Amino acid sequence: MPKLFAIFGDPVSHSRSPLMHNYLFQALHVDACYTRVHLTDGSKLRDTFFSLGLSGANITVPHKEAAYEACDEVRGFATTIGVVNTIILEDGKLIGYNTDADGFMEAIKPFGTLKTVLILGAGGTAKALANRFLQDGYQVNVLNRSEERLNYFKDLDLSCEVPLMCDTWKSFVCKSYDLVVNTTSAGLKDDLYPAPKTMIEEILSHTTYVADAIYGKLTPFLLLAKQKELNYKDGADMLLYQGVLANHLFCEKQFDLKTTADFMQKSFLL
Ligand code: NDP
Repeated sequence: MPKLFAIFGDPVSHSRSPLMHNYLFQALHVDACYTRVHLTDGSKLRDTFFSLGLSGANITVPHKEAAYEACDEVRGFATTIGVVNTIILEDGKLIGYNTDADGFMEAIKPFGTLKTVLILGAGGTAKALANRFLQDGYQVNVLNRSEERLNYFKDLDLSCEVPLMCDTWKSFVCKSYDLVVNTTSAGLKDDLYPAPKTMIEEILSHTTYVADAIYGKLTPFLLLAKQKELNYKDGADMLLYQGVLANHLFCEKQFDLKTTADFMQKSFLL
């Protein structure tokens, strides 16, 4: 009986994860299949996982925090951040992991050494990246549309050596950054900027590198970065590397990371 894996999200039709995982399964003769599940209510994740008979799953916007709640046990970096993007079924239990932060760090390696980063957004992806940046000694700034989600980052501030600045659009004062990364879903299924356009223009005038977690399209944010001739990248490499790490778990570490990455990358050419 083939193993079944899925990605849960809302929206989820844009996701390239099925293509990446299925390409590897087919190429390396793994008896498994990966599909999409459009899930609007995150509290139904656990029941849906079991009713579909899944062996594992990825979770995307906006259910990563709900996925943490759905798990019986959470391991590794996901325990620090309370955000799960990968679930494995182990002895009838749901085990949660987070591969987003490691995936993103791998993706920005070509940018070289960075010290200051501005994260746009304060959702699950922002939490993962902020924690990883802080662990690695970066100076972290978080800018979010609304106040509520910033509370998590304010609490983080108490436990880290380098001060973490977090602002809403109202309180934000632009500084200089090595990297600005958009982790909001603005631009995913609309043509919005992650903050008012004038603010984004100012930010882009004060940064060296620009990244967007969104992939498969040039968001208005990245288009502006391109027009300003900044060094930018979309979320495709982050997608690839978080997927490589997730697949490594799905396949019980049967293939090394380089082999997994090579095959998954080939699916981008389809
Ligand atoms: P969440 O739902 O957890 O967080 C969304 C964030 O976006 C919130 O901070 C929210 O602000 C903000 N936001 C939403 N709409 C707007 C808007 N119109 N203007 C400004 N801010 C807005 O999402 P995730 O963190 O899970 O995912 C965020 C994005 O990252 C998605 O587009 C997802 O596809 C992408 N992603 C890509 C990955 C990859 O592999 N390339 C991996 C992970 C995520 P507020 O608090 O005010 O509501």
